[in-house]
Amino acid sequence: MKRPLILIIVVLLSVNHGLLGQTNTADSIKSKNTYPGGTFYKVESIRHFRNCRKPRNIVLMIGDGMGVAQVFAGMTANGGHLYIDNFDRIGFSKTQPSKGYITDSAAGGTAIATGEKTYDGAVGVDTLKKPLENILEIVRKRGFSTGVVVTTEVTDATPASFVAHVPSRYQSEEIAQAFVDSGIDLFIGAGRENFENRNDGKNLIPELAAKGYKVCSSVDEINAVKSGKTGGFLENLPYDKRGDQLAVTTGAALRLLSRNGQGFFLMVEGSKIDSGGHATDMNQEVGEMLDFDRAVGKVLEFAAKDRRTLVVVTADHETGGLSLTGGDMSTGKVTGNFAWGNHTGIMVPVFAYGPGADAFMGIYENTGIFRRFLKVLKIRN
Ligand SMILES: [Zn+2]
Repeated sequence: MKRPLILIIVVLLSVNHGLLGQTNTADSIKSKNTYPGGTFYKVESIRHFRNCRKPRNIVLMIGDGMGVAQVFAGMTANGGHLYIDNFDRIGFSKTQPSKGYITDSAAGGTAIATGEKTYDGAVGVDTLKKPLENILEIVRKRGFSTGVVVTTEVTDATPASFVAHVPSRYQSEEIAQAFVDSGIDLFIGAGRENFENRNDGKNLIPELAAKGYKVCSSVDEINAVKSGKTGGFLENLPYDKRGDQLAVTTGAALRLLSRNGQGFFLMVEGSKIDSGGHATDMNQEVGEMLDFDRAVGKVLEFAAKDRRTLVVVTADHETGGLSLTGGDMSTGKVTGNFAWGNHTGIMVPVFAYGPGADAFMGIYENTGIFRRFLKVLKIRN
């Protein structure tokens, strides 16, 4: 009698476990597709002013992998409003690389930074692997200060596109060397290992110090810098372990670079919106999108006071093919479906604020963003 009973129990358990397993998998998919909602942060409305003077400063903010769906998922999650709501000059950027329909961040970043379409994986070089002058190099020659602030390695594809010229995005050590040789005034992000624990045995940290950089290893150290060249190396953390690092370090960059009365060009990247798309995970998508939006808020508040700063917020491409299938502005809950865990070819938004913002309306190639910077700065190149 006992044996059949045990047998029945075992069968029941395995069926249940299977079911449980299935329900677990179904639950995990359900939880990955749904951001449950959370606390909202207050969004200030930023004053708009009409002036057609030339911008003195430019802040370019790139949400890596940020399509319109990612922006609206963030809006839903924050009770219907983001700092991005404040933009009233809006355009669209076509993200195709030199060949093919879907870009990676290297070709996308290079197109925005240099005005040239190139192949996936290329950093600051054209289809013949020839170096392309980037916007930071062009404005540096005109006395601007320059900087990049990111939430991934500073040697990663997007920031590298504004500094280095190498045929492959995976040449992290060459890219690190390019940072040291570039004359950039400020860089903040992860990736210290590409400067310090290198295959060529070199240690670039003393080289940075010899060139006058204050090499920092924490947000506090960065905040303590009063002036001068700054290299801030931080941990490579996801949004839920980073606190408001991006907004704070962006604020530090604005404080330090704006000391130059001749102007500055700062590139800020919300690097990990892309990771949320690759992971097809709504929590990561929304978490990174809100983190990026808070940094947008920091920059808009600066620009509203300064009134000579052009702010452009865009993406290099969309990631995940995200579609929003449900949401509730009162709780912030939002549900989405991902077509897949890769980049897509859809055009991405361009938001602009401040002097010269009008130039960014319309639909154009991603290379057109670079051309519009030159146009509003009245630079013939
Ligand atoms: Zn990606």
